[in-house]
Amino acid sequence: MPKMRVAQISHAKGPFELVERDIPEPPSGKVRVKVQACGVCHSDSVTKDGLFPGIEYPRVPGHEIIGTVDAAGPGVVGWQPGQRVGVGWHGGNCGYCDNCRNGDAFACQTETLVTGISHDGGYAEYMIAPTTALARVPDDLTSVEAAPLMCAGITTFNALRNSGARAGEVVAVLGLGGLGHLGVQFAVKLGFKTIAIARGADKAPLAQQLGAHQYIDSQVEDPAEGLQKLGGAKVILATATSGAAMNAVQGGLAVRGTLLIVGVPDSLNINPLPLILGSRSVKGWYSGTSIDSQQTLAFSALTGVRSMNEIYPLARAAEAYNRMMSGEARFRVVLTMEG
Ligand SMILES: [Zn+2]
Ligand SMILES: [Zn+2]
Repeated sequence: MPKMRVAQISHAKGPFELVERDIPEPPSGKVRVKVQACGVCHSDSVTKDGLFPGIEYPRVPGHEIIGTVDAAGPGVVGWQPGQRVGVGWHGGNCGYCDNCRNGDAFACQTETLVTGISHDGGYAEYMIAPTTALARVPDDLTSVEAAPLMCAGITTFNALRNSGARAGEVVAVLGLGGLGHLGVQFAVKLGFKTIAIARGADKAPLAQQLGAHQYIDSQVEDPAEGLQKLGGAKVILATATSGAAMNAVQGGLAVRGTLLIVGVPDSLNINPLPLILGSRSVKGWYSGTSIDSQQTLAFSALTGVRSMNEIYPLARAAEAYNRMMSGEARFRVVLTMEG
């Protein structure tokens, strides 16, 4: 039996273990993906620390996967061995429940399939994925370039393109980390007047490099006042994980503006009066499904949006994960399966 290496967690809060397993055969409706690269995401802590109920261990994390279809199970149509594919957080959907048929496959009622949580993910040389989880990958993105776009990319791109903001309107991106550094690039390429907000003068050159039209250093300027000077933001994409930072920007929303939350703070205080008086809203955004991932990859290839990455081999998965969790990575961490 041919073997593969995986980096698994064998119990909640347990360490990464690099082990050999049999290479699995794809069952009906699923393909085997030979993984080339897998991004390391903060949400991998769900698997590492057992943050969702019912996770079955051992479990292989990883939901920013790029590889090639290696084998197809019975009944698979439309996907061929050798084809390059991406697999993200959305781990598949049934296609027949009311939400799926209503175009809300992300909220499939039959099964909640999340790659690397409900089934094994991409910290591995091979993984199994349902065809409903597959995205096509453009030739002009390398696998390392494409991997972080499968979660950090789709989350920010899909939130922004569905935000209701129109070309030329003010869109602020709060936070310049793994999500934010992509969010700024996407906002610029989508045609918004893009304002980056972060802490510290040292982030100003980065904001400029990413294409932001203006940078607000929230340590020296009240970000809400800064945005109101520009007429207010139609959308503030909140990628930071600080509730205090989100509290500080909400006063910067324009009339009918939306605070669009994709980062997860512990708690959030919202002042209701400006919401009511200005018909403003606070909204969350789910990352997206496989077709959203595919469109994220295509848009990134077309417009030159790229993640800045630190690269580690699979054998150093524990180190790569710790690097990501430290918050020091510039800006995403990606595992490669060679070596
Ligand atoms: Zn993620
Ligand atoms: Zn469904």
